Amino acid sequence: MRHNTLSIHSENILPIIKKWLYSDKDIFLRELVSNACDALNKVRIALGDEGEFKISIAIDKPGKTITLSDTGIGMSEEEVEKYIAQIAFSGAEEFMEKYKSQTEKDPIIGHFGLGFYSAYMVASKVELDSLSYLPHSEPVFWSCDGSSSYSIGAGKRAARGTSITLHIDDESVEYLEESKLKELLNRYCAFMPFPIELNGKPLGNEAPLWLKSPADCTDKEYLSFYRKLFPMDPEPIFWIHLNVDYPFHLQGILYFPKMHRRFDANESTIQLFCNRVFVSSNCKDILPDYLMMLKGAIDSPDIPLNVSRSYLQVDKKVKQLSAHISKKVSDRLAQLYKNDRQSFIDAWPDLEMIVKLGILQDEKFYDRVKDILIWKNTQGEWGPIDSESKKKVFYSTTEHSPLIKLYKTVIFATSPIDTAIIQFLEDKLSLSFQRIDGALDESLLDPDKEKTVLDAEGKTEPGRVAEFIRKSIGNIEVEAKSLASNELPALVIFDENQRRFRDYIHLTQGKKGDTKKTFVVNTNHKLIQTISRLYNKQPEAAASLAKGIYDLSLLSQKEVGPDDLGSIVARQTDLLEKISALID
Ligand code: ADP
Repeated sequence: MRHNTLSIHSENILPIIKKWLYSDKDIFLRELVSNACDALNKVRIALGDEGEFKISIAIDKPGKTITLSDTGIGMSEEEVEKYIAQIAFSGAEEFMEKYKSQTEKDPIIGHFGLGFYSAYMVASKVELDSLSYLPHSEPVFWSCDGSSSYSIGAGKRAARGTSITLHIDDESVEYLEESKLKELLNRYCAFMPFPIELNGKPLGNEAPLWLKSPADCTDKEYLSFYRKLFPMDPEPIFWIHLNVDYPFHLQGILYFPKMHRRFDANESTIQLFCNRVFVSSNCKDILPDYLMMLKGAIDSPDIPLNVSRSYLQVDKKVKQLSAHISKKVSDRLAQLYKNDRQSFIDAWPDLEMIVKLGILQDEKFYDRVKDILIWKNTQGEWGPIDSESKKKVFYSTTEHSPLIKLYKTVIFATSPIDTAIIQFLEDKLSLSFQRIDGALDESLLDPDKEKTVLDAEGKTEPGRVAEFIRKSIGNIEVEAKSLASNELPALVIFDENQRRFRDYIHLTQGKKGDTKKTFVVNTNHKLIQTISRLYNKQPEAAASLAKGIYDLSLLSQKEVGPDDLGSIVARQTDLLEKISALID
């Protein structure tokens, strides 16, 4: 056995690698299995399908070792010297040079030809026993305890390939658990191209469905692949199979998940692979938020993983990639809308967030989906807004507003993102959106029934009722109006600008605010006419009635805070007691 010194300038590179990657020790397994896959690929290229192709991982718990063994191309002594002892460390220097000032801890070590040395994140000593595939080769043994000297000599391996034994250090004994390694293999290696065994049991890794031509994939396969990626999820609605060769390489399957309006921008659900090796479940820097609401996997060797995040966002390939995915998504949606409108409408609760967020985040996306941005109206019909023939759109944020019946047609904008969408559409189209409780539209009034006669003091009857009600309730604007409908005694109008601001603050900061309210009473409704008759003779009863109507209006418009409920109930009880005294 000869002893030699690793050819590096920096003596302490291993402790630095260890420290650098401390936050993600798990990746050592991915790096070593990837190396084994590369070695198997190389031997397949050299020899064709000759011999066995497999990766075996064995844990020796009492001996505190993990051995990874492949039947790949193997290495001669010169190759071990060259690829393990030297190349690796020139990679390490490059790595250090590039990243010494950075604080990000991405698992990118493999891209610097340092994958092998990630073993030292969990091992105090690494041994390698390798036999080259070339005829008449001699096995070679290499061992290094993480310092800058290593031993090299004759190995024992009888069959082509490489065995790497990790002597697990005391801080990493968790990796000696079969369940832990199995979990890691399932995460990182589920789609690797060669059979993998753990303690003699096959992992069941398989070719990912994205490699298959879309024309050959069945719905059943897409669904079972989804279940493999996201075992806890309900079935997706539909999917897009991506297959691009130019100007970049990208394969993958993106699913539209069942969402039910639950969206957490931090929960990334598109898994990123690089040549079938799992890299990350975080595509945050590659895809815009609205695309991250999809689930699935993308595999691209062209996504530069070894660069910083700020760089990624301006990278040309990354931009093309997200533009491509965005186009595919909008095309798929438009196709469904055209070919199967009912399914599109049924899926809308799950789709609308993707469409609406996309509209707000991406101008080009908006252009492609503007005709499929649909709304439900009071007639129960679904469709886009016809901005050609309509200049004013009435909308309600709830399907149960009592004000709906005052209008011919109202669309429902019930999603929390709709305020932003409406604002966007108002700017984009020459169209105004009016929330039905945001203003009293002229068209709701009946001027013929309006009482305009002036009394001795120059006041109208509606003016007097309004004044009385204002005094009774206190601290609120009151207007008495002659509404065409006599079904509704009153309604509360909220200043629209203030409310949009309030909703925005609520959505972004979770804070609740107040909005200027106007209480509109309908002079053509019996209850208001009763107040009109009573306020001189029985002011107290008339005031209770006015407060009761106001409370009910707030209640029916869902504008009552939990703190106000108690006093409302007390007032209503009081009213009922007064009525029962009359009947008794
Ligand atoms: P990278 O894989 O990025 O080149 P590594 O440090 O992981 O960097 O490996 C360095 C080199 O060592 C590889 O390029 C390969 O030539 C050789 N090597 C590593 N593991 C194996 C293996 N299991 N079988 C054969 N050669 C290997």
